[in-house]
Amino acid sequence: MIKYLVVLGLLLGSVNAFAQKISISIFNDINLSTVLITPTKGNYKLIIGDIQEVLHENQILYLTRVGDSIMVRDANRNLGTWKRVSIVGETSEDVIRVKPIMPSNPARLYDDNLSFYVEFDRIMAINLIDEEKYIAAVVEAEGGPNKEDEFYKAQALIVRTYTFKHLQKHINEGFNLCDGTHCQAYKGKSEIDEDIYSATSDTKDLIIVDSLNRPITAAFHANCGGETANSGDVWVESLPYLVSVPDRFCSSSRSATWERRVPLKEWKKFLSEQGVDTLKIEKHSDMNFEPRNRSKSYTAYGVIIPTTKIRSYFKLRSAWFSISVLKTEVRFSGRGYGHGVGLCQDGAINMASRGWTYDKIIEYYYKGVKIVNVDSVNVSDVKPDTLNVEHTEPDTMLPPPDSMRPPM
Ligand SMILES: [Zn+2]
Ligand SMILES: [Zn+2]
Repeated sequence: MIKYLVVLGLLLGSVNAFAQKISISIFNDINLSTVLITPTKGNYKLIIGDIQEVLHENQILYLTRVGDSIMVRDANRNLGTWKRVSIVGETSEDVIRVKPIMPSNPARLYDDNLSFYVEFDRIMAINLIDEEKYIAAVVEAEGGPNKEDEFYKAQALIVRTYTFKHLQKHINEGFNLCDGTHCQAYKGKSEIDEDIYSATSDTKDLIIVDSLNRPITAAFHANCGGETANSGDVWVESLPYLVSVPDRFCSSSRSATWERRVPLKEWKKFLSEQGVDTLKIEKHSDMNFEPRNRSKSYTAYGVIIPTTKIRSYFKLRSAWFSISVLKTEVRFSGRGYGHGVGLCQDGAINMASRGWTYDKIIEYYYKGVKIVNVDSVNVSDVKPDTLNVEHTEPDTMLPPPDSMRPPM
C-alpha cells in the first residue's frame, strides 16, 4: 500500500506521469467478506508478508475476512492470515478472475494487479491497472458493446477527461476512483477489447478542455430527444460549453420517445406538495402541458415547478415531456433518456455511422472546447467537477416506459 501511495504521490504531482497505473476500488458498493480469485492468463505472484509465491493458471485462492485481517487458502493449504494480500502480474497481459462469494456476486475479470486489505469492516479490493486499459473498460461499461469506432473515441475522451480530473476523488481512502456510478462504471476487463482498446489507444493522452485550457465537465447521457439541455437548467451551475444544441441524429433510436401513466390521485398529491391548491382545479385540461422545446419548468395555477423535479418524483426517463390529464390518470409523453446535458450517446453513435470523426462529434455537443494533449494542461487548473453530474443511467435504474412494456 505504502509503495502504491508513493507511486500515486509522484503521479499526482506531475501531469506528465498521468499515463501510468491508477488504483480503483472494485466491488466498491459490496461489503465483501469472502472472495475467490483465479489467475486466468499471464504470470502472477502472490505476495503475503515476506512470502512470494508463483500462482499457476487457474489456481484458486480463497480470501476470507477474519477480524481486521484476511485468511488466505488454496485448494489444499491454509496460507495464514495477513493484513495485506497482493496479487502482482508480471507481464502486461495478465488477467485475473475475481468472484465474490460472500455476498455472492457474478465473477469479473481484471487486468494487471490486485491487492486486498480490511477496512470499514469489509475486504477492500484494489485494482492497480494501466490507465488506458481502465479507460477502455469504462468506455465499454458506459458506451455499450458493438458501436462505431469514432463514437468509442469520443467516449474515450470523455472518460479520460473525467479520470484526469478526479484522480484525487478517493485519495483519503487510499485509492483514486471507485468502480460505481459515484465515479465511473467499471465492470472489469473490457470484453471486446480489440475495438474499444484500439479506439482508446488511438486517442491516448487526449482530453477535452474549455477556452481557458481547463479540463471540462464532460457530461453525457443516453438520448437527448432532439435537443440537449443547458447545464444550468438541470443543475445549479451554467457552464459555457454545456449549452443546449439541436440534435436530429438521435430521433430514430429506441430511447427517443417514451410514455408513462400515473394515477390522477398521485399527480394531485404531488401538485399539492408543491403548493398548488388542488381544490381550485376546475378542468383537468387546465393542467395539460405541451412544450414545443425542452422546457425548464411547468406552471400549474401560478406555481412554477421545475421539470427536473417532476422527472425525479415520477421516475421519468427524461425531463422533456408533455402532460395530458385524463379522467383517472395523467399521461406523460416524453422524449429522450437521461439528463440531456452534454454529449448525446445515441446522436453521437449515429453521427459516427455517417462519417463524423470523434473531434467533430465532441465539438458539436460541447461548445467552444478544444481537444489537447494532457501534458499541455496546468496541474493547478485541474479541479474536480463542481456540478453533481449524474452519470448516464443504465437501463436497469429506471422502470421501462409504458410503451415498452409487454401488453398485459
Ligand atoms: Zn467513487
Ligand atoms: Zn440527441
